[in-house]
Amino acid sequence: MAQKDDCIFCKIANHVIESDYVYEDDLVCAFRDNSPQAPVHVLVVPKDHYDNIVDGVPADVLAAMVHAVGEVVRICGIDKDGFRVIANTGAAAGQTVMHLHMHVLGGKKLGEGLI
Ligand code: 5GP
Ligand code: ZN
Repeated sequence: MAQKDDCIFCKIANHVIESDYVYEDDLVCAFRDNSPQAPVHVLVVPKDHYDNIVDGVPADVLAAMVHAVGEVVRICGIDKDGFRVIANTGAAAGQTVMHLHMHVLGGKKLGEGLI
């Protein structure tokens, strides 16, 4: 698996286009959403292209993404008692960038509902 042509998150994750990075390792990186919905709104993405979380993503990549969420929480100083992780999957769920990503949202009182 590798990058996909014309995928903006492939380009950001591999520094073809630079962004506001928070964390990076061999498999994933995390950067600030350019249209933030909370004081801290960071996207965690794999460096290889997968359309979504059920697109045959290897376990080590999924583990690296979850590890990165923890790093984002630590680095950004998010209150561990109040943040949210979201992976919109498919257009009907509001996924607009078809490269797997987890939103990490925090830094404010979040609504209590799931949707
Ligand atoms: P989705 O709706 O697919 O779950 O989330 C996509 C997110 O990516 C949106 O919150 C949107 O603001 C963000 N986004 C889209 N294009 C860019 C970009 O070029 N740079 C950054 N930093 N965020 C982006
Ligand atoms: Zn991609």
